[in-house]
Amino acid sequence: MRELLLVRYGEIFLKGLNRPYFLHALLDRVKNAVRDFHADVWMNDGRIFVSDADDLEGCAQRVCKVFGVHSVGFAVEMEKADFSAVCAQAVHMMEGLQGTFKVNSRRSDKKYPLDSPKINAEVGAAILRACPQLKVDLHTPMHTLNVEIRDHAYLYVRIVPAVGGMPVGTNGKAMLLLSGGIDSPVAGYMIAKRGVRISAVHFHSYPYTSDRAKEKVLDLARILSEYACGIRVYVVPFTEIQMQIHEKCPEDHTTLIMRRFMMRIAEACARREGAQALITGESIGQVASQTMEALQTTNAVVSLPVFRPLIGFDKADIIAISEKIGTYETSSLPYEDCCTVFTPRHPVTRPRMDRVERAESALDMDALIERAMEGIEIVET
Ligand code: ATP
Ligand code: MG
Repeated sequence: MRELLLVRYGEIFLKGLNRPYFLHALLDRVKNAVRDFHADVWMNDGRIFVSDADDLEGCAQRVCKVFGVHSVGFAVEMEKADFSAVCAQAVHMMEGLQGTFKVNSRRSDKKYPLDSPKINAEVGAAILRACPQLKVDLHTPMHTLNVEIRDHAYLYVRIVPAVGGMPVGTNGKAMLLLSGGIDSPVAGYMIAKRGVRISAVHFHSYPYTSDRAKEKVLDLARILSEYACGIRVYVVPFTEIQMQIHEKCPEDHTTLIMRRFMMRIAEACARREGAQALITGESIGQVASQTMEALQTTNAVVSLPVFRPLIGFDKADIIAISEKIGTYETSSLPYEDCCTVFTPRHPVTRPRMDRVERAESALDMDALIERAMEGIEIVET
């Protein structure tokens, strides 16, 4: 008999011919998540198991962050042949509990002498005999004792919900424009959750933005990395571009032109990385550069699709997700972002494409982009 984690995954993406591909990817991501714990991880009969870990709680916390995992049960694995021992173990696990319960059994070993209704009834009866403080409630029980008869018997009461989604890497790769704000880490999280591997690009304007501002962004990437299985961050020097825009373009267009440069450079990084889309944290109307017209002018400079998973979200909803995923605190640290340096007093909210293009023509765009690309620092998180 031993304790282990019984990892359950969502069923939706497991249909059809792709099933082995997804399962293999998921197993690999779970192994990767617990590699610091020297755990054994294997897949058998529709479940992933994690055992012999130095720290089962620690493993569970990591596994709950693996996209594609639906929930994690803290299970006892034991021989299934001696059914009275199974009942005794069930009693042992329920003894300390109060209130109502039900037994939920599954028999994937169809040769097992008792079927599921029979197991439910017998185990339930044993618990009732030994634990007079407990009552059965089949509809809304306070506790559910799960009994799974597979190669062994697995019993568990405690189940921790996990993030869901699809295994990272099973749905291509995208490049996240990552600022130090609240929105972009959430946007990256949402797309990674759909199985997309993420790389990130961050623009910094040293010395107008500090090294701590850059560290903050790398910290955000590290938090996201725990879900996204590692994020490569392209740190792009943006000072020269910003200075040139500031000097040579009309003030009310500076933010927009800066955003267009970001998109172009992000796309160049995406191509280098083999990423098939860009991701931003934009949401309609949130700031001047996120009006319909502004979004159109920033979209116009790239040909890769731009994913904006927060486009219809209120700030409060975005904050709620950032708190849940653990980026809010870091995002709220008060360091300058390059967008907040040189902010125009009256940014244009309904830009016209011809005016934007005319304003931009004062710049030597190719040379500026080339120098920024040459100055890229790559950080693995
Ligand atoms: P956030 O909380 O993500 O910073 P925001 O409301 O501050 O969002 P903007 O500053 O207009 O919005 O930026 C819009 C989007 O542009 C961000 O969500 C992010 O994807 C991208 N972005 C902004 N600044 C940077 C930067 N310094 N480096 C990389 N991407 C950036
Ligand atoms: Mg920002």
